[in-house]
Amino acid sequence: MRNRWYGIVLLGGPGSGKGTQAVLLASTLNIPHISTGDLFRGNLKQGTPLGLLAKSYMDRGELVPDEVTVGMVRVRLSEPDCDKGFILDGFPRTIAQAEALDKVLLEFGKALTGVPYLHVSDALLLERLSSRWTCRVCGAVFNKVTPPPREGCKKENCDGELYRRPDDEPETQKNRIRVYEKQTAPLIIFYAKRGLVVEISGEQDVQHVQLDMLRAVNLEIVVDEPSQKARASLVEDDC
Ligand code: AMP
Repeated sequence: MRNRWYGIVLLGGPGSGKGTQAVLLASTLNIPHISTGDLFRGNLKQGTPLGLLAKSYMDRGELVPDEVTVGMVRVRLSEPDCDKGFILDGFPRTIAQAEALDKVLLEFGKALTGVPYLHVSDALLLERLSSRWTCRVCGAVFNKVTPPPREGCKKENCDGELYRRPDDEPETQKNRIRVYEKQTAPLIIFYAKRGLVVEISGEQDVQHVQLDMLRAVNLEIVVDEPSQKARASLVEDDC
């Protein structure tokens, strides 16, 4: 594969499968997966002031204030592993964050290259969130579609304990979906106006979504028929 810089923002509601797909795509493209939710949870685990501040918002399913979130992302994007690009998952979540991201990238002499949007109906989002279990160690996510093994995570030799995220409780879930519709969904139009958005059905199985994601970031895929597994050979196209 030739060296190409990827600036990818992954859009989709809570429970749309963004996290799972971001991990897969990041590993294929060999660029970091940056999840603001994970950064906040990591800070909380370490008991930093940023983590404690974020907790009060996360527990209610509200957004952490833009200036705090943008500052954290700015620092993360300055790290050397972002030299080849990045996949942002859970950021931006407001138009103000998107505009701030543009400014940060402009300073770096870069611009976004693609915005895959995972569409899942509200009813299915709620169903997935209410059955979601997350691994404490590797962050893998299980739900009705990918049921959790009884004995713990088991993903790629991980044996982490599975737990329910506090913000996956029913009232908080509903609020997260409301906040998403009001503050984050407008980003679809914001980026579509620049021709960056590719809509993907997040209601397909993980492998099919994965293939659509690769197409969305302009990778030509040679699918391993008939299994349609994402063991695809990847060849970069010329666009
Ligand atoms: P997530 O893991 O992406 O579902 O995020 C969990 C929670 O972290 C959200 O409900 C927010 O409280 C907070 N959070 C994550 N990303 C952002 C962001 N870009 N802006 C504000 N708050 C965020």
